[in-house]
Amino acid sequence: MSTPVHEHHAAAYRAREVPPPARLGHGITALPVPLAGSALRSVMVYTIETSAGVVLVDAGYRHASCWNAAVEALATIGHRVEDVVAVLLTHNHPDHVGLADQVRQVSGARVVMHRRDDFASQQLERGPFLGQLAAALSQTGAPEDVATQMYAAAVTVAVHHEDLVLDQVLEEPDTPLVFGDTEIRALHLPGHTYGHTCYLHPAGVLLTGDTLMPEGPTQLAIAAEPGDDPAGDLLASLRRIAALDPDLAGPAHQYPFTDVGRRALDLHDFHAREVEAVATLAERYDTAWEIAPHLTWAKPWDDMGLGTQRFALVHALGLLRAVRQG
Ligand SMILES: [Zn+2]
Ligand SMILES: [Zn+2]
Repeated sequence: MSTPVHEHHAAAYRAREVPPPARLGHGITALPVPLAGSALRSVMVYTIETSAGVVLVDAGYRHASCWNAAVEALATIGHRVEDVVAVLLTHNHPDHVGLADQVRQVSGARVVMHRRDDFASQQLERGPFLGQLAAALSQTGAPEDVATQMYAAAVTVAVHHEDLVLDQVLEEPDTPLVFGDTEIRALHLPGHTYGHTCYLHPAGVLLTGDTLMPEGPTQLAIAAEPGDDPAGDLLASLRRIAALDPDLAGPAHQYPFTDVGRRALDLHDFHAREVEAVATLAERYDTAWEIAPHLTWAKPWDDMGLGTQRFALVHALGLLRAVRQG
């Protein structure tokens, strides 16, 4: 249960349209940037106006159409790319980090993300994204030909540029970032990725990235390394958001919403039930590949395309980690 801030924004999402920019008050605006050819349809870039200049939270996908859409959306609220002083990134997925470097080149903005999602650190500690995906797919127990097809499809869907260099690397669970009259807190809330960060504006607005959306489940991070437990991470993050209970949430997809603490608890309970279901299935089955078809998904397993099955399988692997390590 979650309540849209603007009904028209939620209606546009449900009608599979890209909504116009939506002001959330306190100098915060949601700028939906279209993602051509993606089931996500659009990614929201948030602008926060401060006495030091404009702060962006997330930066769209690296494509000329996204850049043009973002520049136009900024202009509708009276700003230019040159006004941007910082780009705060929630996590290192390509639809969020894509335009960060281009914004920096134009404006000199400072680019900020958590160490666990920093590409340079990730190369050393976890390897590149596609390497992590290949390792995870082999751990799911999927037949080799299926894993190979899933991997090949993932390679062609999204280009993973992993060359973004950060100006500030976040290390702490809670880091204050000061922009003139506005102190924004960077809260490390992993689960969707290991470095996922939400940004809390002092007016009680939490920009939640891909950790908490108003509808549907949260996709778990790829569990490729021995200590990874993305489901455990996500449950802890959702408990922390519920305790924080901000007035308003601005997610990176779908639409801004209120009743945030309640939504965080509902989603927590949903994912906790998923872990319980996997625990029961793990008494009979060994691998994520055997377990995944028996879980409840938006569509029956056999009706899913290979790409959707791959997301579901990676998610099931994350759930299985919580069972085996818990
Ligand atoms: Zn993401
Ligand atoms: Zn996303």
